[in-house]
Amino acid sequence: MDLHGRRVVVVGLGASGRAAAALCAARGARVTGVDLRESIDPIEGVELELGPHRRETFLGADQIIVSPGVPSSQPDLRAADARGVPILGELGLAAALLGEVPILGVTGTNGKSTVTSLCGQLLRAAGLKVFIGGNLGDPLCGALPRQPGPAPFELAVVECSSYQLERAGELRPLAGTLLNLTPDHLARHGNLQAYADAKLRLFAHQRAGDLALLPADNPLVLGRSKGIGKGFRALIGAEPGVRLEGAVARIRLPGVTLDLDLSDLPIPGVHNRLNAAVAASLALWAGATPLAIRQAIPSLRGLPHRMQIVGEYRHVLWINDSKATNVEAAAVGIAGLDRPAVVLLGGEAKGEGFAALAPSLRDHRGVITFGGSGEAIANELEKAGLRPVRTASLSDAVRHAMDLARSGDAVLLSPGCASFDAFENFEHRGTVFAALVQEVAS
Ligand code: ADP
Repeated sequence: MDLHGRRVVVVGLGASGRAAAALCAARGARVTGVDLRESIDPIEGVELELGPHRRETFLGADQIIVSPGVPSSQPDLRAADARGVPILGELGLAAALLGEVPILGVTGTNGKSTVTSLCGQLLRAAGLKVFIGGNLGDPLCGALPRQPGPAPFELAVVECSSYQLERAGELRPLAGTLLNLTPDHLARHGNLQAYADAKLRLFAHQRAGDLALLPADNPLVLGRSKGIGKGFRALIGAEPGVRLEGAVARIRLPGVTLDLDLSDLPIPGVHNRLNAAVAASLALWAGATPLAIRQAIPSLRGLPHRMQIVGEYRHVLWINDSKATNVEAAAVGIAGLDRPAVVLLGGEAKGEGFAALAPSLRDHRGVITFGGSGEAIANELEKAGLRPVRTASLSDAVRHAMDLARSGDAVLLSPGCASFDAFENFEHRGTVFAALVQEVAS
């Protein structure tokens, strides 16, 4: 794609919009950045048009780059679309400018960031120069050279949200996965089918020799994926593909057969074994050797606030899963532990549904509720036959957990709630938790 002299309009100047605008400007485009906000830090070479959108700016563009937060139903975007102005997202732009560098793409409702990070770590351990980012961390446009030329990496592992995939242009991953799909973002996509279709666009331009890894247990995804792209379809949870047998990942793909022992994976949770198994499958497809992957497993690192071990005191393991901001995510963390745990639930609940956790909580040491919705959650769990301990705050919950936990147990903060009752965001909650653990332990 030659940007020289083209009139590019970038809609939405968050991290990815800024990266796209700066790159287009550096490559000789005449770039206008538009944003509804009245005040934005300047971007070199980019003319800013802030406040209410001007239709003529959209209609006068040769190319529009739209941020993931802006829906296709936005009226000015629709008008430009109707006039035939090409519209791409930042990821689509990056894919068009990346040349021959292969992309590995990761999407799904849950686990995207983890699989992206693990896959990147495996490939780096195998000696490859890898970009890791996308929806997680840095936008891909920010990593491309300012002038046309080879990228400073051999491979890009990219986390793709459904919003980004709506406008991904010719994005063509050498290997891609849709990890799982549960109802989410339906206000934007309309219904589950449309959400699935957005995610499946990841595979639309795959060619023979590419890999599409899909969840074996999701008939909706499997049904709607038929006929999309020409990649080899493999499954998560069945053959051909990758499945877990205890701590061993059985990877069975054309040209790749590997039994990968994950018992040394230093990140708790059965779901993380699966995430590592999928990451390894993608990395193998991209050329990492089985030996390099085996050797890298014990040194893999999880992401902060996702089943992150924040301390081990008197043989009790303290785990921060603050990112589990809804019941489904908490359920995965709670069910995936291989030792009894005291589970901390609470914050600002997004609805009811905590009774669904009762069967797996019953196998654990105990439950402590806290925060704004703590009382309501405790009531729900009581109706389901559990005996939760009610506390006011996260710090009270941590103190109680210290008393309840026995040697060999874990204490798991997997709150199943948003954090806004008492914290800025889930990261803040997780950081406070880690600090409280240190304090109580000492
Ligand atoms: P995302 O980037 O898709 O939000 P993360 O890797 O940040 O995903 O993980 C978010 C939460 O999703 C985790 O805290 C965990 O509760 C849950 N999760 C992670 N991996 C999986 C998986 N493979 N299947 C289901 N849930 C998962």
